[in-house]
Amino acid sequence: MDIKDIKVETGVEAKLGTLEWKKQPEANILLKNSGADAPCVTKCKDKPCTTVCPAKVYEWESSHNKVIVNYENCIECGACRMLCPFDNITCEWPGGGQGVKYKYG
Ligand code: SF4
Ligand code: SF4
Repeated sequence: MDIKDIKVETGVEAKLGTLEWKKQPEANILLKNSGADAPCVTKCKDKPCTTVCPAKVYEWESSHNKVIVNYENCIECGACRMLCPFDNITCEWPGGGQGVKYKYG
């Protein structure tokens, strides 16, 4: 096989696929307000959580007019908590031995 035929996967999704998780029993990521009056519905036009999160934890579901939180994919980077313009995200680090497992951590 020629070296140029070897497919090199460098995308974020490929790298996320190399991580391991030990699922925690409770969500470490929550929306403070997820109701019909939440800022996600009433004020947040751009919904940066759905584009900033590298693990695609947040998805805007237009049919239900709400943000879905796939908390079990979280890689604990903290970006969403800092970047939510309406401070609507609670982000707690999982307990010892739970959550994402990094190669060198
Ligand atoms: S960035 Fe914050 S306010 Fe905007 S959709 Fe996400 S959680 Fe809701
Ligand atoms: S902490 Fe990072 S990986 Fe986890 S939900 Fe927030 S942005 Fe996504």
